Amino acid sequence: MRRKLAAGNWKMHGLLADLSQISALNADHPDPATDILICPPTTLIVPACAAINGGAVQIGAQDCHARASGAFTGDLSAVMLKDAGATAVIVGHSERRDAHEESSEDVRAKSKAAHAAGLTAIICLGESLAQREAANTLDIIAGQLSISVPDTAVAANTVIAYEPCWAIGSGLTPTPAQIGEVHDFIRARLTTRFGEAEANGMRLLYGGSVKPGNAAEIFEVSNVDGALVGGASLKAEDFTPIINALK
Ligand code: PEP
Repeated sequence: MRRKLAAGNWKMHGLLADLSQISALNADHPDPATDILICPPTTLIVPACAAINGGAVQIGAQDCHARASGAFTGDLSAVMLKDAGATAVIVGHSERRDAHEESSEDVRAKSKAAHAAGLTAIICLGESLAQREAANTLDIIAGQLSISVPDTAVAANTVIAYEPCWAIGSGLTPTPAQIGEVHDFIRARLTTRFGEAEANGMRLLYGGSVKPGNAAEIFEVSNVDGALVGGASLKAEDFTPIINALK
């Protein structure tokens, strides 16, 4: 049985004062039925870990470099993120694929680095609106999946997040049938590549405009094991109903 996961991606939002949102989640869910992960900006990883003080909420990062150390000004390695207290790292988010021109090969290298450091890699995939309208969604997902996920992936260290680019921050969401088609496809591809035992253990998250009002309907969809949530994860009062919808 896969444990459900509610993961929040704070992107470039959050100052020290906002740690109160993480503390509130931690206090409200002392023994949650689902896993709860917040990926704040990197500056908040250490104080966020201190704020949860061994509680149930886990802290993750939003990106990592593919190398463990070196002359890479401004970058952070997976080893450093683990050292700071992170348990997971998002890789291949569409905002990184677009704005930083990260390829699926880059995402695979970063995922491998995350695995080597002992972090769970949350590997993001998703089609653009033009690709969906051209009926290319499954081809795009197949390509991104096969290249972005490294051979080091096992159920315990890998989460796949299906995030259609056109749904992120837009208020638009695919229909449940569209989400189900992609999630079932991802599960089948993972099974072919990694075998049933590992593939059945890997969690598949949906991401893109998940809100308190649509979470329950999305979580009914087959092979949806949780959500990667942007805007609605910033405030505990918005994220809590999403967490509760996963139960
Ligand atoms: C995201 O950033 O991964 C995301 C899904 O954002 P939002 O929930 O705001 O659409």
